[in-house]
Amino acid sequence: MARSVGHPMTAQSEPAVPAVPADDFTAARAVLAEEREELVSRIASLSRDVDVIIEASQDVSTDDEHDPDGATIAYERAQVAALLDQARSHLADCEVAEERLAAGTYGVCERCGGTIGAARLEARPAARTCISCAAARRG
Ligand SMILES: [Zn+2]
Repeated sequence: MARSVGHPMTAQSEPAVPAVPADDFTAARAVLAEEREELVSRIASLSRDVDVIIEASQDVSTDDEHDPDGATIAYERAQVAALLDQARSHLADCEVAEERLAAGTYGVCERCGGTIGAARLEARPAARTCISCAAARRG
């Protein structure tokens, strides 16, 4: 086993390769496909949770409307509904990103038409806007 200590740059002297491949979003495609699959199953399981909570609330609220469990269930239901909304909108973003990959417009900011940074796409492959537009919208 060769131990590489010290001079990692000496082995090869190839011309500088751009750190980011220009039009190749293979990694993003893979991540998006994976994320989409995960979201689809998360949405399915959250939907089941909602059903269970609704069933539970029907059991509880029959005779005592001051039952503290009623409030807990309403809270839980709101929590799960929020998670479900979040997952659904993220899924929509993933689908849009995949459509844009197919259309060749992936990596272009929806708002300003500028390039979305590679680091941002790596962190959020479904990002639809560049980091400054995202910051502007938030602020
Ligand atoms: Zn922008």
